[in-house]
Amino acid sequence: MDRFDVLIIGGGMVGATLACALQDSGMKIGLIEASPPADIHDNDPVTLRVSAITRASQQIFTALNAWPGMAARRVSPFREMRVWDAGGEGAIHFDAAELGEDALGHIIENGVVQRALWDTLTARASVELLCPAVVTTLQRIEGGTLCRLQDGRELRARLLVGADGAQSRVRRFARIQARGWPYDQQAVVTTVVTEHSHRETAWQRFLPTGPLAFLPLHDGRSSIVWSTTPSQARQLLQLDDDEFCRQLESAFAARLGRIEACSERVSFPLRLQYVDSYVQSGLALIGDAAHTVHPLAGQGVNLGILDAACLAEVVLAARTQDKDIAALKVLRRYERWRKGDNLLMMYAMDGFKRLFGTEWEPLRWLRNTGLRLTDNLPPVKQLVMTHAMGRSGDLPDLARRTAAEQFSAL
Ligand SMILES: Cc1cc2nc3c(=O)[nH]c(=O)nc-3n(C[C@H](O)[C@H](O)[C@H](O)COP(=O)(O)OP(=O)(O)OC[C@H]3O[C@@H](n4cnc5c(N)ncnc54)[C@H](O)[C@@H]3O)c2cc1C
Repeated sequence: MDRFDVLIIGGGMVGATLACALQDSGMKIGLIEASPPADIHDNDPVTLRVSAITRASQQIFTALNAWPGMAARRVSPFREMRVWDAGGEGAIHFDAAELGEDALGHIIENGVVQRALWDTLTARASVELLCPAVVTTLQRIEGGTLCRLQDGRELRARLLVGADGAQSRVRRFARIQARGWPYDQQAVVTTVVTEHSHRETAWQRFLPTGPLAFLPLHDGRSSIVWSTTPSQARQLLQLDDDEFCRQLESAFAARLGRIEACSERVSFPLRLQYVDSYVQSGLALIGDAAHTVHPLAGQGVNLGILDAACLAEVVLAARTQDKDIAALKVLRRYERWRKGDNLLMMYAMDGFKRLFGTEWEPLRWLRNTGLRLTDNLPPVKQLVMTHAMGRSGDLPDLARRTAAEQFSAL
């Protein structure tokens, strides 16, 4: 039987980040993933799923030596962000230059993030990559968990980490209850060609049915996330391309001119989900396995990447101090570190979704006034920007810039 100090189930963006942060630590680390990540080259067609990656996540990827692999493929910086309300005059404009930064963040395909992280794991070869591999059973045993794979292999883990997404099997095995509620919204995702340039700007228009985001891609196209009612989402998926482009153009008030073409369309149900407990003795949950938030501010995976960096820091510190890395009191440090911030972001996104979804006049007035006021108060705006870039709060060491980096950004 193979014995691991840390066995991570799920090698998506979050699980792979944790594996990278723990590699070369002298511990035996395993990463189990059901589907091998596709190899993506710089001239391959852009894939549909993208994420807005914060500067904090970029810093973590840089520290883990995975950022060059992303930049060599394709990343698209957004230097400005424009948000406005379809039901009023309220609007806000964020500009990285106001903070002396060159970008607010980057739009990157999920597949590119995952592939670059896996490349560093393959290059160092210190983490055992079990892929493709499917977990069939998990069982508590003395000193850890026994994990059986479909091909019959048996693995023993001192610390089992669930990075296996919103439907986490590890979470169910641990009988940790997922709470939350489905949003009455689906996110329709596609890639479009627009008449005018996106100007390296992320755009978001709040409609009564949900937010519509245009995210800039490196090839001049934009990635769309259109959160709307399930019935409108169904209808949007069924339209022919020309009619879809016309409806999208009108929903976006033709801010980038005509929508000239669109790629295939898919939709995702949206749900708020959280757990009360991130850890048990010998077990931890990270990323979507522990929390899912509304995608309106592009924070979901960034929270998971911070989870991974914090858990790695806690585990590595425990090892240095000769403590049991799987002990509940060690793992509780990770839970205390991340749970409050994640809940705060989740409720903030939920609040925005509700505030911008209402047509009740007093709240419409309030949100439009709030947008205008914030836009005209530079210190408040800078605080919002710093938070959205992931640069505030109690950051893990991997997300902190060195003095030299801070100096060169000035
Ligand atoms: C429309 C939309 C837009 C979004 N936009 C953004 C954005 O702009 N910015 C942002 O930060 N977030 C965004 N998000 C959220 C983001 O996509 C998720 O938070 C992120 O994908 C979660 O990553 P994860 O690694 O935790 O989970 P997942 O991506 O779900 O990865 C889990 C992995 O585990 C593997 N796995 C699962 N079960 C098993 C098993 N039993 N055995 C082996 N392997 C297993 C899966 O194959 C998968 O690779 C968006 C979400 C949606 C729906």
